[in-house]
Amino acid sequence: MCPSASAEFERTGTRDSSHKSASCAQLGTPTPGTGLRRSCGRGVWVGPSRLPNVTSSGGTSRPAPSPSPARPQAPAGPSAESRLALVRRARRTNRELAETYPDARCELDFTTPLELLIATVLSAQTTDKRVNLTTPELFSRYPDAAAYAAADRLDLEDVLRPLGFFRAKAQAVIGIGQALVERYGGQVPKKLDDLVTLPGVGRKTANVVLGNAFGVPGLTVDTHFGRLVRRLEWTSEEDPVKVETEVGELIEKREWTMLSHRLIFHGRRVCFSRRPACGACTISHLCPSFGIGETDPVVAATLVKTD
Ligand code: SF4
Repeated sequence: MCPSASAEFERTGTRDSSHKSASCAQLGTPTPGTGLRRSCGRGVWVGPSRLPNVTSSGGTSRPAPSPSPARPQAPAGPSAESRLALVRRARRTNRELAETYPDARCELDFTTPLELLIATVLSAQTTDKRVNLTTPELFSRYPDAAAYAAADRLDLEDVLRPLGFFRAKAQAVIGIGQALVERYGGQVPKKLDDLVTLPGVGRKTANVVLGNAFGVPGLTVDTHFGRLVRRLEWTSEEDPVKVETEVGELIEKREWTMLSHRLIFHGRRVCFSRRPACGACTISHLCPSFGIGETDPVVAATLVKTD
């Protein structure tokens, strides 16, 4: 699901309840065979550990390392990572994700800001692929804001039915059309403060539109983004606005939109909510949570999603 939503639709990631205990239990000690040293909290990483370079197309271009033996229990200790080290690690992680996912992008199909706005709202609670199957007919039947404003609700619901929550989504789409016609001359506004006044549009959807339709850098804190930045220990915040603020202070503004795509790509393909493929993760050497998922590189490679 592309980052989308609203007060009505927007959902944000919730922290895995297992995260802290698992990562704390398994980090903080040298790792035989990998040269890594990790610590719970913002600790120190030593030595290279280039795991298979899993691309977004699913291949692995680097040889897989030997399966890692079980990690010993991490000793309790103070967090050691300085603010500067955290910033450097976060920016390095972004750069390495850029190498892993050179084709990271918004996975919703659109040609105009309005199409992206509508597609993003519709992507709540469903997949981008399903949205992309529905929007060609939708966009041809409703080419502009006025068409959505004047849409017959039942007709629109029929088109949106495959997406689930079709009644609420139809209501939001009609409301967006009406608001755009009444307040913005039928055009999608280019300011976040204006976008979030539209029905079904929250900061997440607004940042998707700003970043991908208008070139205004924005952080899209969806469920994948939130989960990953907490696992990476860039923030411990759960509130998406606070997450946005804290991550925004670590990463260069010009990188915000692409960072969002990269994290979301990684969350969809490798760093899953339930069984992250740590052993096939190209940023594992930068991640304090390595070990909360499958560390065996051979097994982990089988978990990686390739589309
Ligand atoms: S998959 Fe990678 S980013 Fe996710 S927890 Fe494991 S090592 Fe960290």
